[in-house]
Amino acid sequence: MLNATFEPLCVVSARRAVVLVLKEKAEIVERNGAEFRSERAAVPAPSVIRLVHFVRVPFRSRVPLSRRGVFARDGHRCQYCGRAAENLDHVLPRSRGGPHSWENVVASCRPCNARKEDRLPQEAGLRLRHAPVTPHAHLWLIATAGTVDPVWTRYLPGVAAAVPA
Ligand SMILES: [Zn+2]
Repeated sequence: MLNATFEPLCVVSARRAVVLVLKEKAEIVERNGAEFRSERAAVPAPSVIRLVHFVRVPFRSRVPLSRRGVFARDGHRCQYCGRAAENLDHVLPRSRGGPHSWENVVASCRPCNARKEDRLPQEAGLRLRHAPVTPHAHLWLIATAGTVDPVWTRYLPGVAAAVPA
């Protein structure tokens, strides 16, 4: 669900989105091809909706680091080789003082994670595809949805689409 300004707000169920559209509180921006049918009407199932009126959003603090959040940020892909990620990897290993922070944790496949051990990526012949960054505050809401519809990424700068493994 986007604000009237197209700023992402949160993830809502498709049913809730339809109710908002029927009440004319929101309009459909992207649809997913399916339809909701009632006795009176058929409504296209929305994938992205936008509120008709702007809502003021209270300041959100930093996103807490979580496995789900890291996987969502990194598109469920190993940040060293691009294969499906299964593990979290500390770029600067914990054993060498690396922090458990957004800037030091990436999604990794099992082989890359095992190959790296307690070394820096360059010491293990690995290269990070992207420098890990703290995601936008809306990411934790997306992470709770599990996966990110590829269509959503148009409205979510800094978030990669989840590619099925
Ligand atoms: Zn890998």
